[in-house]
Amino acid sequence: MLKRILAFSLSLALMLGCLTIAVAAEESSSFGAYDHVFIIGIDGAGSFIQDGTTPNFNRIFAEGAVNYRTRTEMVTISAQNWGSILSGVSYLKHGLTNNKAKDKERAHDTAFPTVFTLARQAFPDAELASFVNWDPINHGIIENDIGVTKHNNGDDAQLTEDICAYFNAGNAPKLFFVQYDSVDHVGHDEGSRSPNYFKQIQTVDGYLGKVYDCIESNGLMENGLFMVVSDHGHMIAGGHFGLTMRETMTTLAVKGKHVVGGSSIEKDTRNRDVAAITLHALGLERPAYMTAKIPDQLFDDVSGETRNWKNDVLDTILSSMAWFITLSTAFLR
Ligand SMILES: [Zn+2]
Repeated sequence: MLKRILAFSLSLALMLGCLTIAVAAEESSSFGAYDHVFIIGIDGAGSFIQDGTTPNFNRIFAEGAVNYRTRTEMVTISAQNWGSILSGVSYLKHGLTNNKAKDKERAHDTAFPTVFTLARQAFPDAELASFVNWDPINHGIIENDIGVTKHNNGDDAQLTEDICAYFNAGNAPKLFFVQYDSVDHVGHDEGSRSPNYFKQIQTVDGYLGKVYDCIESNGLMENGLFMVVSDHGHMIAGGHFGLTMRETMTTLAVKGKHVVGGSSIEKDTRNRDVAAITLHALGLERPAYMTAKIPDQLFDDVSGETRNWKNDVLDTILSSMAWFITLSTAFLR
């Protein structure tokens, strides 16, 4: 009898032990640890958030990971970069341009779909949403046949109100994308050293704070991952398309559980890595064709990933060459 009791106690202890390990393992992994991913895009802000007055960005990411040396695509134009940010491949692969995004709607059966299509395949019933100022993103980059809630407003202040109304109505999207465009407008008009450029960064920082607070007050940050990213910067004289440091250095900031607080994220980070981070957070395997990766020093349990450059040899060669051109313009930074 005693033997039986001992055996029973032992097996109970083992079971409980295994259960504890299983729970601990689940909690200690960032893969699939998030119910919601929020990507806030600030068009044309490049890396200049670090030089601006941005109290909201600073408070949101005080315990997050921030990198102001995140590289863009070689062509520093909006559609090329938003296409890469959302699909995890270079622009040489997805082939999107501003004109294509304006002229042609995109369907999910494309070779390099956005994370919206990949999320839809995994979560057929989930709410997915994209709120943008520059409507070609919703028209020709994010696929039109997968049931994404799409909203356009050509005024960043009103877009912010629309976003808060959306969350306050009880919407809890699995994946949520925002694109603000007003910083880019001022960048074109007055360049990336002008007082008005930084004034607009400060204004959009206010919108960012509002959006974050609306998400958080509706309980969505508990299991949420919140990111800020930019598509490109601006030249001193205004405008963007080339390889100068002012154009090709952007911001990537990430907040959520498992994100290493105070981290500056590794050097070799691209804005296309947002796609890899998004899929990882939602617990989705990354398609083999992607050249996005999880940057080191971002999640507390992921390190040592190498970029799968063999998937895109041309981009690897050209962007390595481009980097030397970028470095030669560092004095302009
Ligand atoms: Zn842009």
